[in-house]
Amino acid sequence: MNKTLDIYAILLKAFGPRGWWPTTVKGIKPQYHKKRRLNLSSREIFEICIGAILTQNTAWSNVEKAIENINSAGLMNPLKIKRVPSNRLAGIIKSSGYYKQKSVKLKNFAEHILKKHKSGLKKWLKNADINELRDELLSLYGIGPETADSIILYAAQKPKFIADAYAIRIFNRIGFLNSLKYDYVQNYFENILTKDVCLFQEYHALIVELAKLYCKKKKPLCNECPVGKKNLCAFGASV
Ligand code: SF4
Repeated sequence: MNKTLDIYAILLKAFGPRGWWPTTVKGIKPQYHKKRRLNLSSREIFEICIGAILTQNTAWSNVEKAIENINSAGLMNPLKIKRVPSNRLAGIIKSSGYYKQKSVKLKNFAEHILKKHKSGLKKWLKNADINELRDELLSLYGIGPETADSIILYAAQKPKFIADAYAIRIFNRIGFLNSLKYDYVQNYFENILTKDVCLFQEYHALIVELAKLYCKKKKPLCNECPVGKKNLCAFGASV
């Protein structure tokens, strides 16, 4: 029996499909998509990449505000992000924190697309080999493993498990992990699960929900947690 799939099923039953990654289809506000949408527009794909960079070290609610501001300023495309002055962009994304560094990261990412991928972001992400894409993203300023993997999984729609701090905390407490290193955790899940984009997308979103609602950094709510209630967590069984 694959226990990681048991936990996935428990979380899906408890929380339902999360509809990640939210993107703007109408208006300026990103929306969750309860129905899976595999044919994203170029604009949505760029917005996912922007969101993946902006969400570094901050809550999604702060990113949402920044994305709304970018949308209402009409800047959600690589050329406009490249051309907008850095200090103006920094002001527009201020709610996401570290806004000066993040404005440089966004401009750098936009410039990379325009310079290296003349056929556009959508074609680049669609046609790239997953490992080469990851290496290329990681070579860019301000893009680390979690950001690269978010872009690969949600914008490129290729199967990459995001081993973020939430996943590491939860599965360490459950008792699955022998190491807390990003690459180890990612490989653990990629070896044990079918490499399926929809599964990885949904699993990541469910992990985030579990971490926010129950498996908090301090004082996890094990008695109320859907995984703890099924006696599947070593930490939960010990409290
Ligand atoms: S039982 Fe507790 S430690 Fe285990 S996953 Fe749930 S909240 Fe986290």
